[in-house]
Amino acid sequence: MKGKVYLVGAGPGDPELLTLKALRLLRQADAVLHDDLVSPQVLTLVARKAQLHDVGKRSGRKSTHQEEIHFLMIELARQGLQVVRLKGGDPLVFGRAGEEMQALRKAGIEFEVVPGVTAAFAAAASVEIPLTLRRTASSLLIMTGQFADDRPLPDLRSMIESGTTIALYMPGADPRETVDKLAAAGIPREAPCAVVSRASTSAQQTTITNLWKLPSVGAQAKPSILILGDVVGLSKLSHLDFQSLSAELFQSSDQRQEANRA
Ligand code: SAH
Repeated sequence: MKGKVYLVGAGPGDPELLTLKALRLLRQADAVLHDDLVSPQVLTLVARKAQLHDVGKRSGRKSTHQEEIHFLMIELARQGLQVVRLKGGDPLVFGRAGEEMQALRKAGIEFEVVPGVTAAFAAAASVEIPLTLRRTASSLLIMTGQFADDRPLPDLRSMIESGTTIALYMPGADPRETVDKLAAAGIPREAPCAVVSRASTSAQQTTITNLWKLPSVGAQAKPSILILGDVVGLSKLSHLDFQSLSAELFQSSDQRQEANRA
């Protein structure tokens, strides 16, 4: 049989959030290469016959270089195996799948991408935050808090003012630094924000507060994601006054900007 690689999204942790396709592929796989982010519960679904390779980069043990992952995927597929490259969340969101697809193309290996539930969606669902809201939040920005080349965050002021919800992946280990970075990018310190760590697992923790209060909450368990924007105030866990806040949120963003200017 011809070998093939499947770049599969494992979702945020809860195995019930796997797609049916991901589950089928895990049960049929000859080899599975997985990241640290993939939950142990998901790994129990892998076929017994399958070789299991932990190619995580943060496991505290020897980390695997990206090139080694490419090499292993290609070698296993050349042996005629059905290879699942299993990634936390969705493979195309901060998963280095871009590089892996390039390597597979270059090597002439057939591959397919199977999407998964990304962390922002799991986090928002678990605390009931609408990521978009008619007339208020018309866009969603998925961004990283850590750039590979250490550059600062881009200017986010006009985005947040015009009602963009921001999902910040890899927010950083030190909340004070994160707040400073976001404030330097133009996010008002009073912006409502939610930190959800280990979303969708039994160890999930959530904090809903304003940006400037985040450091007093302390460091969050990893992995964690930050959601910023007025819509956070609609969460079931928000301590903000829901009635008055929701009335304000249901105004159009033009009305809000006018009110802010007044
Ligand atoms: N491909 C993944 C993202 C990988 S980048 C996805 O689509 O979700 C790693 C970052 O994802 C972490 O630093 C964290 O910000 C976020 N993340 C992944 N799983 C998470 C989870 N269960 N809960 C909260 N954040 C998570």
